[in-house]
Amino acid sequence: MNEPKKISKLEILIIEDNKADLDLINILLAESINSSFNYDLTSAKTLKKGFSLLNKKKFDIILLDLFLPDSEGLESLRQTYKRETNIPIIVLTGLNDVNLGRKAVRLGAQDYLVKGDINENQLIQSIFHSIERKDTIQIKQKLANNLKAKESRLRKIIEMNADAILIINENGKVRFINPAAKRMFGREENDFINQYFGYPIPGDDKVEIEIIQKNGNIKYAEMKLVKIQWEEEDAHLLSLRDITEHRKFEMLLQESEKKYRELFEKSPYPILILNKKGIIVDGNSNLTKLLNEKKRNIINHPFYETALKPMEILELFPLNEENLEKSSLPDPTELKIFLDDEKLLWLNLNFSLIELKKEKLIHVLIEDITNIKRSKEEVRKLEKTLHEMNSLIEYAPLAIFLMHPNGKILRANLEAKQLFKYRESELLNQYIFDLIDTNSLKKAKEHYEEEIYDEMGNNKIEVKIKSKNGDLIHVEITSTILKIADNYVIQSFISDITKRKNYERNREALLDQLIKSLEFKSKFLATMSHDLRTPLNAIVGFSSLLLDGAYGDLNEAQNDYLEDIYTAAEHLTGLIDSILDFSKIEAGKFELNFQEFSLNKIIKQVHSTLKPLYKKKDLYFKIEGIDEEITLYADPLRIKQIFYNLLDNAIKFTEEGGIILKIEEKMNCWEFQIIDTGIGIAQEDYEVVFREFGRVEKDLRKDVSGSGIGLALTKRVVYQHGGDIWFNSTEGKGSTFFFTIPKKNEFHK
Ligand code: ADP
Repeated sequence: MNEPKKISKLEILIIEDNKADLDLINILLAESINSSFNYDLTSAKTLKKGFSLLNKKKFDIILLDLFLPDSEGLESLRQTYKRETNIPIIVLTGLNDVNLGRKAVRLGAQDYLVKGDINENQLIQSIFHSIERKDTIQIKQKLANNLKAKESRLRKIIEMNADAILIINENGKVRFINPAAKRMFGREENDFINQYFGYPIPGDDKVEIEIIQKNGNIKYAEMKLVKIQWEEEDAHLLSLRDITEHRKFEMLLQESEKKYRELFEKSPYPILILNKKGIIVDGNSNLTKLLNEKKRNIINHPFYETALKPMEILELFPLNEENLEKSSLPDPTELKIFLDDEKLLWLNLNFSLIELKKEKLIHVLIEDITNIKRSKEEVRKLEKTLHEMNSLIEYAPLAIFLMHPNGKILRANLEAKQLFKYRESELLNQYIFDLIDTNSLKKAKEHYEEEIYDEMGNNKIEVKIKSKNGDLIHVEITSTILKIADNYVIQSFISDITKRKNYERNREALLDQLIKSLEFKSKFLATMSHDLRTPLNAIVGFSSLLLDGAYGDLNEAQNDYLEDIYTAAEHLTGLIDSILDFSKIEAGKFELNFQEFSLNKIIKQVHSTLKPLYKKKDLYFKIEGIDEEITLYADPLRIKQIFYNLLDNAIKFTEEGGIILKIEEKMNCWEFQIIDTGIGIAQEDYEVVFREFGRVEKDLRKDVSGSGIGLALTKRVVYQHGGDIWFNSTEGKGSTFFFTIPKKNEFHK
């Protein structure tokens, strides 16, 4: 047996009118007494008496006989129960009243005992059980009451809540809806209770829903969910906050943002939006057009990575991020930037501060002032030009008049004043015709009144003018019509041609003289050469006969002198031949005897003639590029002459090494190179080489014989063939002379 809660002394009230039964109970209690159990038994004979005892004292248990003088049967229990609900009641019944006992228990009694059929243990057990059971019931009831109170409090709270609240069970059906929710949805309780909710149920995060009310109005709500127990089942509490106003405002904001965007995009000006770090956050289409860049190449890039780099000089960044204020922005600024293709742009930048999505940004409105700048620049240049023109006119070494179309002088420059010997003020009051000699007047009138208006006509005349002191001066006047600020003005340049006129008069005489002297020169050269050649031929011929021993033996001295005479005469003959050739060329009488011939043969001849010369000096002589037979179309004698001259020079001016003759076939010609390892030619002497009678008269060359006519003639001969000749040379290292002879088909088409 579980002992009931510790009661120091069990107070028992017994309502029993039968004395014997009362005594029996007393005895049974007394017999069951043990150390832990102490009791006090109070008895009443009537219900009324019992009730009054209940008022006076606190009892732990009531033993109730159902048949009393003032009440009978179950009525006694009902009465007692009505009077006292907290104290457990045990009903005492007679032996034949067991059914009644059971009924009493059903009505709320804790137990029943059958009088005459109980022992002490049963009594005590029943008493304790009853007390215990009553306690449990009372606790339960209390709990139940508490719960009810709580639930109703929660319900109250929910009902009073300003937020709309719905409770939905696990199956998604609505179990409860508060008035705020009814208002929010614009519907009645019946529209919800035990119906499916019909909106998505959020997870852990809030969701926004759009509600269409019964009357068609639209509301926006933010909904969140908590799990609760509702009427002893798992449920969701949905609370909804009305965000309609907020949403409307947001939409308005979006709308205004859209409008702003439209303005931004459609602005006729390029616009740039920068954040505080100088990153380009936006730019309209005019900006991308201006910079000639794709939008993606500039957005999200720092401005200094784009063509806008020169903005650095504005010291706009880094901006103090907190203190980004209007006052920290620069004033409108003109800036020069260069695009990728070197194109220059002049921009005027206007800065302002804007706030987009709570971020402070710099709005840069850009004006492209390149054209304005350029035209300003042009005006400036024009002014400068005009200014320069003015001084040009004023100080021109030529008399200049600006005149009205009727001939009145509007402006005269310094030279004009000097030419006419008038002061400016005097000139400005005159007409051009007053200054022209009467004999030239007709010509001048035609010029100024007709010719200058005829675009195809002559704008120049030669006339005589009168200066202030009466001198007649021969001048040439050149006139044009100018349009200056919508007015026509005649501009005349007047140059003194007295000298030219004199010269022209003399020129013909000079020309005559020149021609005569040239003719004389040619004739002189031809006859002189001829006259010189005849005695020279005699000298060469006879000295050679003598040397050959045709007139007897010579002694040694005779032989030596004769050899000298012979060599000198030969040299002179060559020289005279060259001079003769020259005079022929100058007189246009030099003719080439073109024919096909073997180059190999010619080179062989030249080679064998020169052999003694280079052998004597111990030089090598190589010929390259003539493995096959080459046919040239040229004058063979002249070609031989060219080779002789060049190779002879090469040998003459080379002391060590040797000479290479190289032949190369080119597209349209044959190219010949005469390469030597000789003394070379200094740069400053280059121009001497091909000059007639030109010789480099220094160092070793002084002792080398020559007249300086060989190369001058060679050049003419090459030219006559339609070829070219040139050289390159390094002093001390050697020279290479090049010449070309065209192939037959090219030169003789
Ligand atoms: P010259 O009869 O004096 O050789 P050229 O007309 O043939 O007259 O040559 C003119 C000058 O050019 C020569 O006097 C010499 O100074 C220079 N010259 C010509 N060929 C060579 C060469 N191969 N090397 C160095 N100097 C040369």
